[in-house]
Amino acid sequence: MGLPDCSPAAESNDGGTPGAEPPQSEPPQPSPPPLSIVPAPQPITPPEGLAVHHVGTGEALYAARTFAAGEPVFKFAKVSWRPRRDRYTVETPEGQHLYEPLLARVGHACEPNTRPSFDLMALIARRDIAPGEAITFDYLTTERRIADPFDCYCGATACRGRIERSG
Ligand SMILES: [Zn+2]
Repeated sequence: MGLPDCSPAAESNDGGTPGAEPPQSEPPQPSPPPLSIVPAPQPITPPEGLAVHHVGTGEALYAARTFAAGEPVFKFAKVSWRPRRDRYTVETPEGQHLYEPLLARVGHACEPNTRPSFDLMALIARRDIAPGEAITFDYLTTERRIADPFDCYCGATACRGRIERSG
């Protein structure tokens, strides 16, 4: 635990003359990040039944138990909205860009095991999911454009390869 950095100025009423105080140095202000930088996902503790593993330069969500087809894998519990798409957002049918820290860690696959439901605000299992499987959905089912195009190596026979634009 740290001590508070500032104490209320009103408490320094011990005889100081107004106007005669020594000049106060400006407290250091953290500068806001440039708007062009995409905020990285906030650290999270995955809920029961899910696990987050480091993969490459990021993190990905994995099943830690069995999920049955049709079951919600998780609810979108910490939703915020961003003014434009980025590599962590998911586009709603209305064209809004939803950020949710668990959803931001769901990888893409061309034959994925889940799909987002914006009616239920949850990620729904498309088939049975076994413990240890990466949780995936098809980014091209939500995004009209891909903010950060990439090559897919999901291994599906219908793998599209380059993931950059909805057809
Ligand atoms: Zn693929």
